[in-house]
Parts: sequence; structure tokens; C-alpha cells
Amino acid sequence: MKKIFLTLIISVIALSVFSQQEYLNATSDVKVYKGGGTYKVKTYKQKFKSEKPKNVVLMIGDGMGVAQVFAGLTANKGHLFLDNFRWIGFSKTQSADNYITDSAAGGTALSSGIKTFNGAIGVDLDTVPVKTILEEAEEKGLATGLVSTSAITHATPASFIAHQASRNYYEAIAADFLKTDIDVFIGGGYNHFAKRMDGRNLIDELQEKGYKVLQDINEIKKVKNGKLAGLVAPIHAGRLNLRGDLLPVATNTALNILKKDEDGFFLMVEGSQIDWGAHANDTEYIIEDMLDFDRSIGEVLDFASKDGETLIVVTADHETGGMAITGGSMDTGEVVGAFSTKDHSAVMVPVFAFGPGAENFTGIMENTNIFKKIEELLIKN
Ligand code: MG
Ligand code: ZN
Repeated sequence: MKKIFLTLIISVIALSVFSQQEYLNATSDVKVYKGGGTYKVKTYKQKFKSEKPKNVVLMIGDGMGVAQVFAGLTANKGHLFLDNFRWIGFSKTQSADNYITDSAAGGTALSSGIKTFNGAIGVDLDTVPVKTILEEAEEKGLATGLVSTSAITHATPASFIAHQASRNYYEAIAADFLKTDIDVFIGGGYNHFAKRMDGRNLIDELQEKGYKVLQDINEIKKVKNGKLAGLVAPIHAGRLNLRGDLLPVATNTALNILKKDEDGFFLMVEGSQIDWGAHANDTEYIIEDMLDFDRSIGEVLDFASKDGETLIVVTADHETGGMAITGGSMDTGEVVGAFSTKDHSAVMVPVFAFGPGAENFTGIMENTNIFKKIEELLIKN
């Protein structure tokens, strides 16, 4: 009996240490967004220096379906930076073992071009590691980066750099970062590097490998070159009112470092919390994060329009919430959201492309084809 009790206690502790799912328990659920601050959207010239991109920025709005985009567009009174994207398609998100994907299988499809089982991080159906676009870019001598507002060890960014049979193996995922030569990563997840069950201190190991390891975004944004590990929160960064302009600033910082590589770069930027707002069926939370993600798209457009050799692909891993919009106003920015699930849904998600090679991203495609097209343009060029 004592033994059972002890096992129970240990598993409760283990669960709380390992759990990054607290966003699924969000209690707020504001269905009607009453309107709020807006920002000006710039129009960029569609003139590029090359036919094929030297750099690719893949931007993933986690849980971002057409309704989430349109909620943001309405809240910003009719315009988004996404307006600049003229090549548009749809991605089918089904995983190998489920009609409705999770972010791990969805991330792996985008990072590696294979359909795998829900929960899988960079491994196939037999849990064999598959090479990711980030690893291929490294092999080719390009610079690489990952940016998110979740823990950097969470499913979406993890799919690009780690190879684990479960998205819940956060410490193993953090250790996988050390096996690569990624140049920049900025997100939460400090604890998975610093406070580990196995006693390893990955912060020391990162520093030995030449990384600047920083936790304050105001310090992080000053870094202009070299290797950078920005770990801005113990687990996830907070909601927008707590984290401020972390995502656009981190995106900009990553671009400034990566652009120094003459061979080009691959960068993945995730708007992680659109999904969490949708799990909570909270229209306000969705809009807050949709607009934050769109402003980050604006940062990349600013860079890409000057650079002329950068392809931007914006998509989602899946839709969340089965969101519909049943009312609203382009004048006031009001949005009335309605939801059919607290989970992910099966529907196609939008794909937006800007820059050299953007014309390839049209029509209805499998999520795995997004990887293949990027690989074709950036790696096999
Ligand atoms: Mg995610
Ligand atoms: Zn989700």
C-alpha cells in the first residue's frame, strides 16, 4: 500500500514537472471581442532579385485556420500584413494515424515532409529519426534559427530540431538542441535546459559550444552576431500583456543575426498561442495572438522586401476550436466567435507565400508538400 502511495506521489510530481499542457486548462473564454487597438499595415513591392530564394522564413500560426485569420483581420479593421501575400493555397493536415493531427505530427510534416503519428517529434511511424529542413540547411552550410512564444522544446519548434517518440520528452528534446549547430533560438523552456532530472546543465554545455545564453529579451535584442540561445521563460512565455512585443522583437533579432551568413538561412517562427486561445474558445486570446503573429510577419516582410532573396511561407499545423465567426464589424473591430470543439479540427488551413518561389504554393496540397517545395527551392537549388 505504501509503495502504491509513493508511486502515486512520484508520478504526480513527474507529471507537474513534465507537463506543458496547462494552457489546455485555461478558464477564460471571451466569445465576443469588442474591438481594441489597431496598427497600420504597409504594402510591399513585389519585386525580387532572384528566381529562387537564398533565405526561407517559415512562419507557423499554431491552430491558425481561416476563421482565426479573419478574426484578426476584422479586429484590425480590415487589413493585415498578410494582405501582401498574393500566392495562396490550402494545406491538408491529416496525420498518419489520425484524421485530426496534433502539433507534433503536424510540425513533423512541415519540418520533414513525412506523415507520422500524433505525438511524434521528427521521427517516422517506426520512431526512426527523419532529417528536418533545418538539419538539411545546416548540412548545406546555411544559418538556422527557431523562434516561438511557447517553450522552444514544445511540439512545433521541437519538430524542426529534435527526434523523439513523444512530444512530452522535454528534457530529451532540449538535449537534442546540443547535437546540432543551430545559430539562434529564442523562446521559453529555460527549465528544460537548466533544471533537469538527469543533472546535466545544458546552459553550461551551450556556453561551451559558444552560445550566448540570455533570458532577458532586452539583452537578447542587442545581440547582432554569433550563436544565441534566448530562453525567455521557465516554461512558456506569458500572454501578450505579460510578454509584450517578444515575438516581433525576437523575430527581428534572429533575422539580424542570420542575415550575416553569406550562404543564406532557414528560420522558423511560431505564433504558438493562437492555438491556446482557440483551445480555450476565447476570441480575445485568439485575436491578441493572431495580431501579434501578423506584426511579426510584418517584421519579416520589412526584411524580405529590402533583401529581395527571401521567401516567406506562412501557414498553420492545423486549425483549433472549429472556429466560426457569427458576427462582427469592420468599423469597430468587433468579432463574435463561435466554436465547435475545444480541440483541433480536421479542416484545411491556409498557406500564404511571398518572395522568390512563392508561386509554387498554390492549390490544395498535403502539409508534407510544403516541406518538399521549400526543400526544392532552398536545398536542391
Ligand atoms: Mg505549437
Ligand atoms: Zn493545440
